[in-house]
Amino acid sequence: MLDIKITRTAAPKAKPEDESKLGFGKIFTDHMFVMNYTAGQGWHDARIVPYAPFQLDPATAVLHYAQEIFEGMKAYRTADGTIQLFRPDCNAKRMQDSADRLCIPPIPEEDYIQAVKAIVDVDRDWVPHSDGASLYIRPFAFASDVGLGVHAAKEYIFCIICSPSGAYYAEGINPVRIYVEDDYIRAAPGLTGFTKCGGNYAASIKAGELAEEQGYAQVLWLDGVEKKYVEEVGSMNIMFKIDGKVYTAATVGTVLPGVTRRSCIELLKDWGYEVIEGKLAIADVMAAARAGKLEEVFGTGTAAVVSPVKELVWKGEHAYIGDGQIGPVTQKLYDTMTGMQWGRLPDTKGWIVPVEKVY
Ligand SMILES: *Cc1c(COP(=O)(O)O)cnc(C)c1O
Repeated sequence: MLDIKITRTAAPKAKPEDESKLGFGKIFTDHMFVMNYTAGQGWHDARIVPYAPFQLDPATAVLHYAQEIFEGMKAYRTADGTIQLFRPDCNAKRMQDSADRLCIPPIPEEDYIQAVKAIVDVDRDWVPHSDGASLYIRPFAFASDVGLGVHAAKEYIFCIICSPSGAYYAEGINPVRIYVEDDYIRAAPGLTGFTKCGGNYAASIKAGELAEEQGYAQVLWLDGVEKKYVEEVGSMNIMFKIDGKVYTAATVGTVLPGVTRRSCIELLKDWGYEVIEGKLAIADVMAAARAGKLEEVFGTGTAAVVSPVKELVWKGEHAYIGDGQIGPVTQKLYDTMTGMQWGRLPDTKGWIVPVEKVY
């Protein structure tokens, strides 16, 4: 159990009046959770303090060598006012796996969950009320040692900030066009693809910008060795429904093990679908499209839940999916997941964790 010291702000900010204009990750709540790590002492000084900038020495390790990891999750407000989290244990576990790969001292799972609950509780009035809007939670940890030289740091900061964010599909669910990246890669065996680390994103920005310039919403990444098998799309996992079966890349080191991915797979299996986690060649996806068997394609991730794809382009060949609208299985996953998250459907899976009022 962490002993969390709470210092409330003397100057609370005005809450956004128009929740339809929240957007994503633009405004932040009144407080943040912070905890420090010092070699020999472990994690210490867990505290909730007013949201404020960090003061960092220009030689702080993270600014030079990117020893940093993060997580992404949401708090949802139900009709009866309960504030709840979705499978926070999965995020806690994943942060430990990321920490291990980046040589960052792990944060015990129960401490991670306690810290998330505490900051959401203190700022619970910031959890949006309108349909589809939620409080986005961003835990992150970074090397805060001062000095140049590449080695594991001896000091770290773990912080959690929260951002009230608008409904992802405020204008309805519009399927997107995806560019299959054939030049740049996101991950390769032995690298950090399975972790949520800032470095993965830094390396992916260029491909994303180039795809956007050409009118595509996201990049679909192929495996980093042969550039043959589908792996992920942007910051989401991706699934393909081909001739009745659902295919997705296995999470074997190069693919981020998404909580949404895992939850969708469990639901699909409950509903009787065969789900194949393994290698799926992009050539076979294009062939399925030509044969009229590429029924649905969708990304999965916390921000959007599911993001239907209507078109893929690979080496100049275009594949069009279904009739360009969200497919029935994608829609059912979206309705079921969001139903549980916002408390409209019973939590039949034990995935929901309420945030009790303590502070
Ligand atoms: C966060 C993330 C996902 C989705 O994970 P969720 O836990 O479902 O939000 C997928 N791919 C990448 C690269 C990510 O960073």
